[in-house]
Amino acid sequence: MASERPKVVLEPHLCKGCGRCIESCPKHAITLGSEVDQASGLVPVLIDRELCNDCGLCIAACPEPFGITRDGYELEDPTKLYGELAPTPKPRDIPAREVRLPRCEPLVLKGNYAAAVGALLAGCRHVYGYPITPSTEGAELLAKLLPKLDGVFMQACSEVATVNHMYGTSGAGLPTLTFTSSPGFSLMLEGISYMIGAELPGVFINVMRPGPGLGNIGPEQADIKLAARGLGHGNTHAIVLAPSSPQEMLDLTMLAFELSFKYRNPVIVAADGYLGQITGRVTLPEKLIVPGLPSWAVWGDAEHKKNLHSSIYIDWADLEKHNEHLEAKYRTITEHEQRASGYRVDDAELLLVACNIPARMAKSAVETLRQEGVRVGLFQPLTIWPFPIDRLRPHLEHAKRLLVVEASSGQLEDELRLALHKADIGGIEIRHLRRMGGVLPSAQEIVERVHRIGSEHAVEASR
Ligand code: SF4
Ligand code: SF4
Repeated sequence: MASERPKVVLEPHLCKGCGRCIESCPKHAITLGSEVDQASGLVPVLIDRELCNDCGLCIAACPEPFGITRDGYELEDPTKLYGELAPTPKPRDIPAREVRLPRCEPLVLKGNYAAAVGALLAGCRHVYGYPITPSTEGAELLAKLLPKLDGVFMQACSEVATVNHMYGTSGAGLPTLTFTSSPGFSLMLEGISYMIGAELPGVFINVMRPGPGLGNIGPEQADIKLAARGLGHGNTHAIVLAPSSPQEMLDLTMLAFELSFKYRNPVIVAADGYLGQITGRVTLPEKLIVPGLPSWAVWGDAEHKKNLHSSIYIDWADLEKHNEHLEAKYRTITEHEQRASGYRVDDAELLLVACNIPARMAKSAVETLRQEGVRVGLFQPLTIWPFPIDRLRPHLEHAKRLLVVEASSGQLEDELRLALHKADIGGIEIRHLRRMGGVLPSAQEIVERVHRIGSEHAVEASR
């Protein structure tokens, strides 16, 4: 039916499919659609031009300013009506501040408490969590302290909720943290992938326990492969720090916040069940951190109001570009953030490679073996990802044998082998000592294994 009136037209990409226009149409010319509009992701209505008489009643009914318009309608240039808009001020970085702490005597803290204190000193005031042994004391202490420090502790309804609360908080540019343990960490992986995709910081203290499945509540380095290689779907990596004492629980938790904001990426502190529970002497740092506000924060003022965080890139080329950007960031991290410590490594012919609690047993074994005259040392990765291959490389000039000591089925050894392969380093003999299920390698076992390796080589040499 032709009409004299200007034609009424639907703008499908602006239609939200609410259906209000359907009721307004006296000709029943509008029906619900069934096709998703690619631009909006919504399902617009359809107008039957045969039935429509261009009365315009649907234009008045539509809550979207331009969902339905008259043909030829053109937007008035708002600057002609209202003048030029005042320019929006650009958001700027408000840097974090350091405040000197008065000197105090060292504290005696269990590992979980030390990490919680580290979080407070790093300026974290937003903590979410779901209780899980053997990590719970960290969250418990923060639940008590944060309300007194103008902070927020929320026990989330699950680990999935926890990581999404963290996503929201870090999107506002605020330091945030959770304590969890292996089964809980598994549940957070999808959210960690989203945070990596949206380039948001956040600190995950994973006090690892044995698996698979529920396992038990003992110590195990069960999640090295998850933290180093399996942070949810897609192209994901995060710095993984591996403490071995309550002091390192505090120090590396503080470092985790610094690195997390520096690279706008989550950081994992991979502890183990024993480390969470043991008590040790902890010296507080000389300063605490008062967080600033990054320019990218979604914050309720004029400067930041245009900020948005998302891991959604509908256009395939855009997503590829974003992944290339993440890859470049991972390369920078790999180049600059490899960390390790060594004990009697300089003249060692055999190096023990161990982190977390097994590093303590390994250190004790080094002492015993050195007293026997065996040239052995301990190489302790403090970052599991990136694996500190550049720190290890110089020692491989004199140490051609490595003994990987770990409380897992070989997850640390896999990282070592991959790093050696990528660095094109060959000719190294790699042995291992592994315990699992909550059983830790003892110093005595390590000593015996080193003796056995020594005798095998003596036999070979005598052939
Ligand atoms: S212009 Fe009038 S007849 Fe046409 S779809 Fe809208 S309400 Fe219905
Ligand atoms: S009222 Fe507007 S937004 Fe709602 S279905 Fe109709 S055209 Fe779409």
